[in-house]
Formats: sequence, C-alpha cells, structure tokens
Amino acid sequence: MNPSGAKKHVVIVGGGFAGLSCARKLAENDAIHVTLIDKHNYHQFQPLLYQVATAELGTDDIATSLRASLRGHPNVDVKMDEVIGADPKTRTVTTSGGQTYQGDFLVLAAGSQANFFGTTGAEQNAFPLYSLEEAQRLRSRVLGVFEDADRDRTLIEKGALNFVIIGGGPTGTELAGALMDMVNFAMAREYTDLAVKEARVYLVDHGQSLLSSFSPEAHEYAARILQRKGVELRMGVAVKQVAGDRVMLSDGNSIPTRTAIWAGGLMAAPLAANAGLPRGRGGRIEVLPDLTVNGFPGVYALGDFANIPAPDGSSLPQLGAVAMQCGLWTAMNVLADITGMSRTPFHYHDKGIMAMIGRDAAVAELGEKRHQLQGPIAFAAWLGIHALLMSTARERIEAFIDWAWNYFNRSRPIQVLDRTDEAQIRWSDDSHSEHPRPPDTKAAA
Ligand SMILES: Cc1cc2nc3c(=O)[nH]c(=O)nc-3n(C[C@H](O)[C@H](O)[C@H](O)COP(=O)(O)OP(=O)(O)OC[C@H]3O[C@@H](n4cnc5c(N)ncnc54)[C@H](O)[C@@H]3O)c2cc1C
Repeated sequence: MNPSGAKKHVVIVGGGFAGLSCARKLAENDAIHVTLIDKHNYHQFQPLLYQVATAELGTDDIATSLRASLRGHPNVDVKMDEVIGADPKTRTVTTSGGQTYQGDFLVLAAGSQANFFGTTGAEQNAFPLYSLEEAQRLRSRVLGVFEDADRDRTLIEKGALNFVIIGGGPTGTELAGALMDMVNFAMAREYTDLAVKEARVYLVDHGQSLLSSFSPEAHEYAARILQRKGVELRMGVAVKQVAGDRVMLSDGNSIPTRTAIWAGGLMAAPLAANAGLPRGRGGRIEVLPDLTVNGFPGVYALGDFANIPAPDGSSLPQLGAVAMQCGLWTAMNVLADITGMSRTPFHYHDKGIMAMIGRDAAVAELGEKRHQLQGPIAFAAWLGIHALLMSTARERIEAFIDWAWNYFNRSRPIQVLDRTDEAQIRWSDDSHSEHPRPPDTKAAA
C-alpha cells in the first residue's frame, strides 16, 4: 500500500518517543506522506508507568491518542496494526492485519520489551513494567492481594503482602519508592482493619549499588531514602527462579510472594528478529552514526529498537530523550536524502539522568558534566525534562506540571482493580510449582 502519489512515502513503525517525533517533524513537509503504524492507537509515556502501577495515575493520564497528536496533518496516515515482518531491500512491512506498506524510506522504532535473561519462571510469573497493559495488570495484582489479605489474614504468612522487585536500575528504584509510599500512605488509610505494616517491599539486585548508571553519591542517596521508607534491599544477590508463589535467591533464601516485578533489563521488541537486519546487544538493530542500517540507506532504526553508536564507541542508553532526539534527527536525514544533501551523524544532546524515589525524593545529574542535585530541586529538574519529553505527544504540559506537584506533595490514588484476571490467585496450592498468569486478553482501557 502506497498512498503517497508523487510524494515521497515514509513508513514509520512505532509511535513512541522516536517514531512520533519523527512523524511530527516530517508532517511539516508537504512533499512527504507519512504512514505511522502502531499496534496501539495511543502513545504511552513510559517514564510514568510505575505511577499507573501504584495507582497514582490512571491509564489515560499517560496515554495520548496518536490520531489526536497528528491531527491537522493530512499528509499523515495513522494505522493501528502490528507489524510482523519487514523486507529492508524493498522497504516493505507486513502486518498481522494482512496489510503491506512500502515506503521510499522505512523507519523502525518499535521500542523494547522485558529481557528475562533466561531466569527460570520469570517470563511466566513475574510482572514486567514496560507497557500500559503491564502497568494496569500490576496495579490489579497489587490491589488484588490487599483485598485477599483483607478477607483472610492467614494469607499474609503466605506472602500475600510481600512485593519483590527484581532489578535496582531507575525503573526498579523508582517503583520501590512509589510502592512503599502506596503501602505506607494510601493502603494504611484504606485498609484500616488490616495489618498493613506487615507488608514488605523487597528490592533485589545482583550488583552492589542501586542506580548503577549514576554517581556513587546517588547510589548512597537512593539506598538511604529507600531504607528510610522501609524498603528491604537485597544487594549482591541474584534471582535464581521466579516460582508462582516465591522468588528464589542465589544466597539460598526465598521470599514468598505472588507479586514479583521484573525491572531487570530490556531487549528489542520482537519485530527486530523478523526485520532481516543485523542485530547486536539486547537483540537491537545495529545502525550507523546517521541512524541508517549498513547496506540499506533508506532504512532507519532508532530509539530503544537500535544500538546507536556513542562517541566513546559504546551505545547510547535506552532513554526517552535519546529516542525523541534521534526521531527528529532521522526526519532531518530523510529530508536531506530527498533534497540531495548529505545525511549527518546523530549527535545526542545529553541533558542528564534522573530518578524520582517516591513522592518526596529525587536525584538528578544534569548535563554532560553531571552536576548533582538531590531532593526538591532534583524533582524540579525531573519535572522540566519530563515536561519536555511529554511535549512529543501532549499539549497539556501545564496539566502535567500541576499533577506532578500534586504528586510530590499529596496523595491522589486511583485504586481501580480493572484486571480481575490478575486478582484470581490460587492460594490453596502451597507447592513451588508455577502458576502462569492467564494470557493477556484484555486491552488497556
Ligand atoms: C518504567 C520505565 C521508566 C522510564 N523512565 C524514563 C525516564 O525517567 N527518563 C527517560 O528518558 N527514559 C525513561 N524510560 C525509557 C524511555 O521510556 C524509552 O527509552 C523510550 O520510551 C523509547 O522510545 P521508543 O520510541 O524507542 O520506544 P517506545 O516508547 O517503547 O515506543 C515503541 C512503540 O512501538 C510500538 N510497537 C512495538 N512493536 C510494534 C509492532 N510490531 N508493530 C507496531 N507497533 C509496534 C509500541 O506500541 C510503541 O508505541 C523509561 C522506561 C520505562 C519502561
């Protein structure tokens, strides 16, 4: 399918930070027709997924309609469909809906998924947190175990109120802080008959420090804040197995739980294996500095889907800022191709890294020199950067900032148990056998 007529046709797969920023930039040029294909009809703001999972935000607070984001651009088609294969020679993709789309340029920006690194039982039993559905499922499980324990106190001994987060990077650390706050504040207020103080949040990591990509000061700050909130850290310990009713650790201990949360790593989305392109670390597509794939000058891969070369020979990290900037850069290189100019190598403008550790603590390391901030000032920096990221899809920056200050200062819980399948736990079976979660049959609200 090529609806572009005389215009150059750009097919973009994925409406995340990378694909959407590329589409928006190209949409400004009437000589181009864009087809943006995403398996969802929305753009999801991943940095706030853990706030959906901990009932601070609703799903529609962090999801924006792709059609609405691209409204007013008649040269852009949005198609909700899942791309299942790509032919880089002809720049054609095929979809599960039976369609094919062929472009003069093909931009692959399908993002990432959890990487369980072969950990026994993790894929079947742990909750990943990389999409809106996953956040919604985790929220329902967390609310479900509180409801179960409220009906039957003996379930607390079986680990009903134990939450085990696997991975102490930014996702795991932010989630641990938010979950502990949810237990200490929202749940303690809601479940007045229940011994909520018996709830435990564990954070397990095989390394010795949290937030390993940050400075040693940030490692210590994060550990101090989490411990002050009541999170139990298990550092230097690997997860050997995630069973249906417990997490087994390399030091021989096991933690009974029905809520093991995987924040242990990422790999490219499944499409990467069916794109006929060279792959590297994390199964991601290897790209040249100008973001095209070697040997395929009309094919670009970007964001979390690609290994993008960094100046020191490593790859750029999987960050929203990287994805957004390389989406814009790809648009500029496509325009250069069309006008006979040379493509230029992508330069990432590094504004820094940051993490929010619950509602009253944050750490930020700004700029390439990594100026360190902690506490409310770090939170303000977090806010500024995330408002900028959010502008990829959302015009309501003021609403976002209002929400964020509210979040920092007080509670606004959205305790909706909308995935009842996640709350149906077989407590009667005490064996260590796995109880795989039911297949994901319900789309995000
Ligand atoms: C919990 C969490 C917290 C994070 N916090 C931060 C943070 O604080 N700051 C920061 O900078 N970054 C953060 N990140 C990382 C950041 O969100 C990602 O780097 C960024 O989303 C990558 O953008 P992307 O466009 O490459 O991929 P994505 O945003 O994942 O978008 C990929 C899109 O492709 C679509 N798609 C996938 N496969 C197909 C297919 N086969 N067919 C059609 N469509 C498909 C998906 O539906 C999705 O819309 C966080 C990530 C997570 C998971």
